[in-house]
Amino acid sequence: MKPTNLTINGARLWDSLMELAKIGATAKGGVCRLTLTDLDKEARDLFASWCKAAGATVTVDRMGNMFARREGRDPKRPPIMTGSHIDTQPTGGKFDGAYGVMAGLEVLRTLHETGIETEAPIEVAVWTNEEGARFAPAMMGSAVFAGIFEENEIKAKTDRDGIAFGDALAKIGYDGPMPCGGRKVGAFFECHIEQGPILEADRKAIGVVTGGQAQRWYEINLTGQETHAGTTPMERRHDALLGAARIIDTVNRIGVARMPYARATCGVIEAKPQSRNTVPGRVFLTVEFRHPDEAILKLMDEALRAEAARIAGEIGLALDIQEIWHFPATPFDAACIGAVRDAARTRGYAHRDIISGAGHDALYMARVAPTAMIFVPCADGISHNEIEAAKPDDLAAGCQVLLDAMLRRANAPA
Ligand SMILES: [Zn+2]
Repeated sequence: MKPTNLTINGARLWDSLMELAKIGATAKGGVCRLTLTDLDKEARDLFASWCKAAGATVTVDRMGNMFARREGRDPKRPPIMTGSHIDTQPTGGKFDGAYGVMAGLEVLRTLHETGIETEAPIEVAVWTNEEGARFAPAMMGSAVFAGIFEENEIKAKTDRDGIAFGDALAKIGYDGPMPCGGRKVGAFFECHIEQGPILEADRKAIGVVTGGQAQRWYEINLTGQETHAGTTPMERRHDALLGAARIIDTVNRIGVARMPYARATCGVIEAKPQSRNTVPGRVFLTVEFRHPDEAILKLMDEALRAEAARIAGEIGLALDIQEIWHFPATPFDAACIGAVRDAARTRGYAHRDIISGAGHDALYMARVAPTAMIFVPCADGISHNEIEAAKPDDLAAGCQVLLDAMLRRANAPA
């Protein structure tokens, strides 16, 4: 790696994060800035004004994704891109998403003030509706950019008040003219707080993210028989809730047996008929599994199906398991991962490889561009919470790694 002495300004990065966090600030120190609200518009306007002051041009596509571009010596080269999101959860923090965007802004500012020219253009993206809190699904902007969803299908999605995504986008004036996606991106890097406890516990400033884990989501319906709780002897019962209880325990065992990487969760349970003196006859249950390795996730799938069938058979229940979603494992690009790792090593930051446990725009960008992510620790691993916190030094380190990795890609031979 060609050594670079270009240094980002950690204090300026922190100040910008704190300034952005004022838009939608909550009493408990967090941020509530739901996508496509007036607050979102205010934050977008501020980001655009900062980027223009740093010499970048800002364009908006038809999904409201924003791109702040600093031209390269060769404008025909595909841009080296970074970015994240500035929408938040209803009780969100100051750093989730905002850090990735402000780190990109700090890269632009550093290049601008030093007058450094790159071969390839540099772009900083703001992806629309990453959180999925107001409009589902999550990561809409990057998904359409990557060709996963159709623009019109997404624009028709409505929030709980019946407002369509497309209408909300037009209302804040961010229904841009540029087509969404369909252009080449040379590489994509995203800085993000880890949103988990691993880096902090391991005392590492930098997480070199090697990929995202696969997910499989299921809906299970168990059907037994509703009978009188006082007159039905134990051996004659077909108790659907008992079956669900055993399946919940089994799901947990499936995860525990594949630690440390597996995740296994039952999040929703509905028993019917909700009467304390009737044996429950019907249960709806959700299961989600995650693992970075598709082959192991398949073993978890097989174990769930076999164990659930055994449990249902023992109690005399009809079992219906539907897999409703399968998000494939996303290995990041070896060269981009290498650029991040080398930058962390060259700068002397404590670092380790890590898998992304959460969804990120980078996971969709990885389908259309060489991609990697940079994680920094957050306090107690807590995120999607108003108390979310991160240290200025760690945030600066992640931003420095971002700049170094982007410069390496942007100045690599075409
Ligand atoms: Zn995020």
